[in-house]
Amino acid sequence: MELQLNDIWQAALGELEVVLSTANFNTWFKDTSILDIDDGKVVVAVPNNFSKEWLQKKYHQDILKTLRKLNNSISTVSYTIAAVQHPSLVIPSPTARASAVTADITQNNSRSASPFPLKPEFTFDSFVVGPHNRLAHATSLAVSQNPGKTHNPLFIYGGVGLGKTHLLCAVGNALVKNSPSIKILYVSCEDFANEYIASIQNKTTEDFKKKYRSVDVFLIDDIQFLSKKEGTQEEFFHTFNHLYQNNCQIIMTSDRIPRAIPDLEERLSSRFGWGMVADITTPNFETRQAILHAKCQEKNWEVGLDVLEYIATNITSSIRELEGALNRVIAHCELHKEQPSVNIAQAALENMVTGQQSKTISPDKVIKTVAKFFNITVADLMSPKRSRDLVFPRQITMYLMRSDLSLSYPQIGRALGGKDHTTIIHGYTLINREIARNDSLREQIQIIKERVYGV
Ligand code: ADP
Ligand code: MG
Repeated sequence: MELQLNDIWQAALGELEVVLSTANFNTWFKDTSILDIDDGKVVVAVPNNFSKEWLQKKYHQDILKTLRKLNNSISTVSYTIAAVQHPSLVIPSPTARASAVTADITQNNSRSASPFPLKPEFTFDSFVVGPHNRLAHATSLAVSQNPGKTHNPLFIYGGVGLGKTHLLCAVGNALVKNSPSIKILYVSCEDFANEYIASIQNKTTEDFKKKYRSVDVFLIDDIQFLSKKEGTQEEFFHTFNHLYQNNCQIIMTSDRIPRAIPDLEERLSSRFGWGMVADITTPNFETRQAILHAKCQEKNWEVGLDVLEYIATNITSSIRELEGALNRVIAHCELHKEQPSVNIAQAALENMVTGQQSKTISPDKVIKTVAKFFNITVADLMSPKRSRDLVFPRQITMYLMRSDLSLSYPQIGRALGGKDHTTIIHGYTLINREIARNDSLREQIQIIKERVYGV
């Protein structure tokens, strides 16, 4: 009977993987199984409350439809938290298989040539795929299965905290696992540059060259650091050529496309584009949620969907920040011995969230808050009157509109009732300079800001 249940679930998972057409499938359906089918009623076992909520809310219809297709006597599906029934049968995808070996990677790492070890937790298995990183993920995966043959060099670029280092390490970790004898070298470009300089000082450049030219796979992180470093660029050029000619795999990451790296030799920037150039952009809401969910699973944290939704809605800039926000909420809960809730998330993320809200604050709000703070009327604040008790608050208003709302000087002039932009520049510059040396002014502005943001 058990085998039958699992056969059905495996078949259903196979279909769902295609229907959902999302690589995050693994995140949501990992460690699920069918516990029971009785009189057309299916009970699906899920590992935790979060998965339960998620499957009920997001995938229930898909699951029901798929199961009915396989067995039309099925009438209902319910979800219950239970231990995994048959771990070896669950989701036979390559990524799931990889998870079983993550524990070995640290030891295996010693076999790679790298003095800068790959982070063992940065694997393909722990990498959530979304529209923002699909190409970079697919090409990295291909390279990890066929180094030196598919995309060479592979150049991955994107902003900070979006997963470049994670992907780079994922390739390394997969290779260490699948081909233990392969020589992999993972290094940050900064370390590469420092090591090169040290080798000149110590007269060991020959060793340096030998080390970097004798690898099968060269993973170099944050290549934009080559900018302006002429000597290191020259050395890197020869390393690159040597490896490339010998069909060794090269993967580079950067915060921008090759041609946008300032002061980088043309012969290098052109070579960086010889293979595949793949970008990583910022994740959309669904992917942010999926990433949060994956992190909770990894750490065994039970956090409700509403809380993750709150975090995913408010933290949008990078995955590193997203993770940081989640960690903060959990730390807050542990400290106060409370269960995660939206209220707690709000409290824990107060500063992070208000920081991001700055764009939605209106000039009007700033004007009203400043007027109230200095106990003057809005009309007086906007007027051309030049008494000291009005000029000073007016200049603070100018400063805040510039620093926090990023308005242009003419825009600020208009918002303040038609003032000349040179007046605004003068006001802003004055306050900006004063803040640096006047503690009490800094404090006043801080209080006004807190009121503007309603903290
Ligand atoms: P970058 O090198 O682009 O600055 P990292 O690779 O260091 O960014 O990623 C920052 C953090 O976000 C890491 O903890 C990483 O594990 C996590 N992260 C980034 N992308 C993903 C993803 N797609 N799935 C899961 N975690 C991710
Ligand atoms: Mg990085």
